[in-house]
Amino acid sequence: MIRADKKLFTPGPLNTKASVKEAALRDIGSRDYEFIEIVANVHQELLKIAGTSNDNGYEAVIMQGSGTYAVEGTLTTAIPEGGKVLNIINGAYGRRISTILDIHNIEHLDIIFAENELPNINIIEDAIKYNENIKYLSVIYCETTTGIINPIEEIMKIAKNYGIITIVDAMSIFGAIEINVNDMQIDYLISSSNKCIEGIPGFAFVIFNREVLVNTNRKKRTLSLDIFDQWKGLERDGQFRFTPPIQAILAFNQALVEMEAEGGVIARKAKYKRNAAIILKGMEALGFEKYLDNDKESYIINTFRYPKTIPFDFTTFYRRLNEKNLVIYPGKLTNEDCFRIGNIGELNEKDMETLLDAIESVVNEFKAI
Ligand SMILES: *Cc1c(COP(=O)(O)O)cnc(C)c1O
Repeated sequence: MIRADKKLFTPGPLNTKASVKEAALRDIGSRDYEFIEIVANVHQELLKIAGTSNDNGYEAVIMQGSGTYAVEGTLTTAIPEGGKVLNIINGAYGRRISTILDIHNIEHLDIIFAENELPNINIIEDAIKYNENIKYLSVIYCETTTGIINPIEEIMKIAKNYGIITIVDAMSIFGAIEINVNDMQIDYLISSSNKCIEGIPGFAFVIFNREVLVNTNRKKRTLSLDIFDQWKGLERDGQFRFTPPIQAILAFNQALVEMEAEGGVIARKAKYKRNAAIILKGMEALGFEKYLDNDKESYIINTFRYPKTIPFDFTTFYRRLNEKNLVIYPGKLTNEDCFRIGNIGELNEKDMETLLDAIESVVNEFKAI
C-alpha cells in the first residue's frame, strides 16, 4: 500500500514526481550494461546543466552518500598536502566546510560574514592579496541556512585573477540557476540528487575541471570518497568501485527527463520564484517578518523570525502543521530564532496557498491562547 505523501516545504529531501519514484521500482544489477548506460547519461546531463561538456574540459562524477560526502570527497581530493584554503562563511554549510578542513588537517583561513549579509568582495580580495600561500577557495552558492544567494561570479573572478582553484558547494541551487562553469571559472561544483533536480536521496555529484584535478599532486586521504579514483574507476569500465545507489540513480535519470520536459533550469527557477513570491507575500500579510532584507534574493528557501506579538511556540507550530501533512523546516541560525519554508520540489502555487491557510489557522490558535 502506498500512503499519501506529506508536502515537504524543506530544502531537500523533497517531494518528487510519481514518475520519479516509479523509476526506482526495479531491480537491476550494478554491472548491467543498461545501468552503465544510464550512469553515463546522467553524467552527460549534469554537464549540460552546468553549461559545459567533456569537450570543454569538464567531467561529472557521482559519489555515493549525501551531499556532505561529496563535499568532503572534493575537499580531500582537490587540496594536496600543504595546500591552504580561503573558506568563505555566511551560514552553517560554510561552517561545515571549516569542520571538514579541520578534521583532515587542511590549513584554512575562514572569513566569516553575518548570516544575513553577502560576502564582501573587497574583504575577500584583501584576504587573498595578503595571504600569498592561499591557493584554494571554498564557498557556498546558496547558503541554505537562510536561502541567501552568494555572488559567485564576482568571487570566482577575483579568485581567478590570483590563480586560485575554486570549490563551490552549489548543493541547494544547482538545477535552478543558470550556471556555466567554464565562463564562471568554477573548478569544482558540488550538488546532490535530492535538491533542485528533484530526485530521491542517495548520492551527490561533482562537476570538475579535468585538467585541474589531473594536475593535483595529491597523496590519498580517503579511499571511498576520493573523487579522482571514483572518476577513474568509472572511466575504466563504466562501473562504480563500490555499490552504487542504483534505485536513486534510476529515479534521478527520470527526474532529469522530467526537468527537461518542463523547460529545464529556466522553468525550474521560475517555478520556485512563483512559489517563493506567494509565501513571502502571504507570510507578510500574516504578520511574519522575513529574516533577509529585500535586496537579498532567496527563492530556494525563506527564513522567518518567530513572531513576538503572539504566544508563539515553534514545536507546537511545527506539530500542528505536520498534523495537516504540511512539513516546514526549523531554523539553523547562530543567533536568532527563526524557521524556514522551502519552495523547491514538486510543489505548486496551490500547495503554497494551502500552507498559508494552515499557518493562518495555527496563528489564530496562538492568538486564542
Ligand atoms: C543540503 C546541503 C548540503 C548537504 O547536506 P546533506 O545532508 O549531506 O545532503 C550541503 N550544502 C548545502 C548548501 C546544502 O543545502
